[in-house]
Amino acid sequence: MLSTSTQHLSDSGLRERFHRRSLEHQRPLSTVTLAFTVVAFLCFVAARNLVGGPAAPLAYRLACAPVLALLVLAIPYAKSTGVFGLIGVAYSLVLVAGLAINLAGVAQPLLWVLPAMVAIPVCAAPLWLTPTHFVVGSALFYAAAAALLFGVPLAHDAQVVTWMWIVAIGVPTSTVFHFGFYRFRRNHFLLESQLAQLAATDPLTGLQNRRAFVKQAERRLATLAPQTRISAIFIDIDNFKSLNDRFGHAVGDHALYQVAHVLMDETGAGDSVSRVGGEEFAVLLRDGIDGALHVAERLRRAIAAIERPDGHLTASFGVAEHRGGESIMVLLDRADEALLRAKHSGRNRVCAERALQPGARQWGAGDTAGEGGATQRHRWDDYYLTSHFQPLYSLSHQKQVGFEALLRGEQHDGKLVPPAVLFAPRPASDEGALDRASHAVHLRNACKSLPDDAWLFLNILPATFTAEGYAGQLAAIAREAGLEPDRVILEILESRGGSVDDMSRAAASYREHGFLIAVDDFGAGHSNLDRLFRIRPDLVKLDGELIRATSHGTEQPILPKLVSLLHQAGMLVVVEGVETTEELILAVESNVDFAQGYLLGRPAAELAPPESVHRRIDEAFDVIAQGRAHQYALFESQVEPYRAGLLLAADALLDGVLMDEAFATLATFERCISCFILDDSGRQIGHEVPGPAWRSDVASLHPVANPRDARWDHRPYYRNAVLLPGVAVASNPYLSLASGRPCIAVTLAVQLADERSVIGVELDWSSLGLPWPARE
Ligand code: GH3
Ligand code: MG
Ligand code: MG
Repeated sequence: MLSTSTQHLSDSGLRERFHRRSLEHQRPLSTVTLAFTVVAFLCFVAARNLVGGPAAPLAYRLACAPVLALLVLAIPYAKSTGVFGLIGVAYSLVLVAGLAINLAGVAQPLLWVLPAMVAIPVCAAPLWLTPTHFVVGSALFYAAAAALLFGVPLAHDAQVVTWMWIVAIGVPTSTVFHFGFYRFRRNHFLLESQLAQLAATDPLTGLQNRRAFVKQAERRLATLAPQTRISAIFIDIDNFKSLNDRFGHAVGDHALYQVAHVLMDETGAGDSVSRVGGEEFAVLLRDGIDGALHVAERLRRAIAAIERPDGHLTASFGVAEHRGGESIMVLLDRADEALLRAKHSGRNRVCAERALQPGARQWGAGDTAGEGGATQRHRWDDYYLTSHFQPLYSLSHQKQVGFEALLRGEQHDGKLVPPAVLFAPRPASDEGALDRASHAVHLRNACKSLPDDAWLFLNILPATFTAEGYAGQLAAIAREAGLEPDRVILEILESRGGSVDDMSRAAASYREHGFLIAVDDFGAGHSNLDRLFRIRPDLVKLDGELIRATSHGTEQPILPKLVSLLHQAGMLVVVEGVETTEELILAVESNVDFAQGYLLGRPAAELAPPESVHRRIDEAFDVIAQGRAHQYALFESQVEPYRAGLLLAADALLDGVLMDEAFATLATFERCISCFILDDSGRQIGHEVPGPAWRSDVASLHPVANPRDARWDHRPYYRNAVLLPGVAVASNPYLSLASGRPCIAVTLAVQLADERSVIGVELDWSSLGLPWPARE
């Protein structure tokens, strides 16, 4: 953290920067002023020529002019304030010598020289960079001038006039000029540095802001010595939102301030620390990955010692080492990926970037797109149709499995035609004509470079799909282009046209020709399960919005359940629109088969090489594996007290204790909604014993809220308990009919009064942040 004051230049570094800045400012001004003095000197020599009397030869009298000119030319090369001052001193003395040579022989020397003696120091005063330069330079000038003036005999009154002009007028005026300008420049400089500092500083913590950090880091990386190792640590405070939400922003702000101080205290002077976002910080260290991990661990412990009203603050850390030639943004990106892993594996931990995998598949020269001729374009209206391809990846195999062909319109000069124009309805040709033309273009373009083990995904309108005889035509076009139909997946677009019956019949006919069928954009527009089950596609492409959809209340994603449903129906699942690492992780976690999206590859005219996508997918798998283990442990630790409580209640019931008393302790546990006993047929025995999470005011599902009317032996929590008698089992979360909120049940099968019974406790699992079980 820098600190400047508008009053003082006490910091020597600051003073030096001021002098350097002054030098930059004064250089042009001094050059012009001194160049003008050379001209003035030449005028002086010319005037002396017009006056009679014995004089030194002209060559002698002019000799100082080239020396003065050389000194002027030296000004742009003066790199330090000292050299600049020396040029000034030399200039003054040479000028005095020049005046002296020209004065020899004149009748009234004082008339010639006194104005120069007064005017020169006054004009030069603002040009001296520092007071020291001013005092030394002016003293030397006056000394030389005095020697010159008083070398000639002067009358008494002439001497008085001389002293008056020099001492009473010249010296005070030049002093005022010099110090006035010096002060002005100094204040200007201090203001300038303060503004620069404000623009680079985060006002809350006093740390560098993101812009300044990135700029400084870029400079550092650009001037890095070959063997120097640099690493970045990315830090994100854990559960910070809850701190703000529960205790107010002032408490959040104070925590940010404390974290900033820890980061400053625990890092060295040569390291850069920045608040790069809300509760995100970054550190750039002059160290390799091992050293950086060490520092990160130290920082983690120091932050974990900071108190917050409900415990201690924690933060997660991602660490990455700079690789030759890489930009700061790429380095931070890798550290951020590691941070994401730290978050997913339970927070309050340090994760290092993953090493590059040497065995990663390279995109060999033979695979390069575009071989075998230029891209095909098809004349359409006053432009051409052409293809762009976007890759699809198998998440389990971490490899490309195909490309979706996307239609583009190109003008003569290669400029793209806007989609609104390309797909605009036109009277002269039907919508199907463009669709059919696009298939021919895509098949011809893809056949040249489609790898042998990849599919081509072709979009098809329902109306085209159901058109009489098109299956046979398309198969012929594909074969003509050199692709067998079993390499082509037809994506039936989400749009009107074609009844479900027609589509189901058409699908059978395309299958006979060998094509595979996909339904596009499931989850948007016209899609419904009936349509899906009648067409029976091989693949279903889920609309990107479905990745982001979450269940009401708990914000748990619904994607895993949907994928599991589609898998059960025998369909592979593709998600589209994967744009962030978090979405990729969710896709992997949800057991999605294939994924597509900007994160994995953008549409392009050439078939894209796989690049480092396999690494991204591999990392997503790692994140999940770590996260799952952690999630499991967390879930078990939350449920354990209820298991123990239920076992104690069972013992009490077996000893003949009455229900209310047996459940008395368990019913005080925080999340307990109610405790209950079910008989052999799953019906409730007696009443339920309410716990602290019981809420009688929730009436959303009122008609089905009373558990006494129902049988519960079909519920997994009942069936699982019966399968493991004597073991307290925890269920997956389910929607409680009594409360309308997500719950879990811990249940235990026991023999009560010679009848098999299941006793249980229902727990409110609706608050955010509660762990969900990692198993299916
Ligand atoms: P996680 O452990 O996953 O990082 O959870 P989190 O709650 O920390 O993450 P999230 O990114 O959702 O929350 C960041 C919050 O930081 C959101 C915003 O309200 C808060 N925040 C951002 N800038 C400031 C700030 O300057 N002051 C305060 N008090 N809060 C801020
Ligand atoms: Mg954050
Ligand atoms: Mg956070």
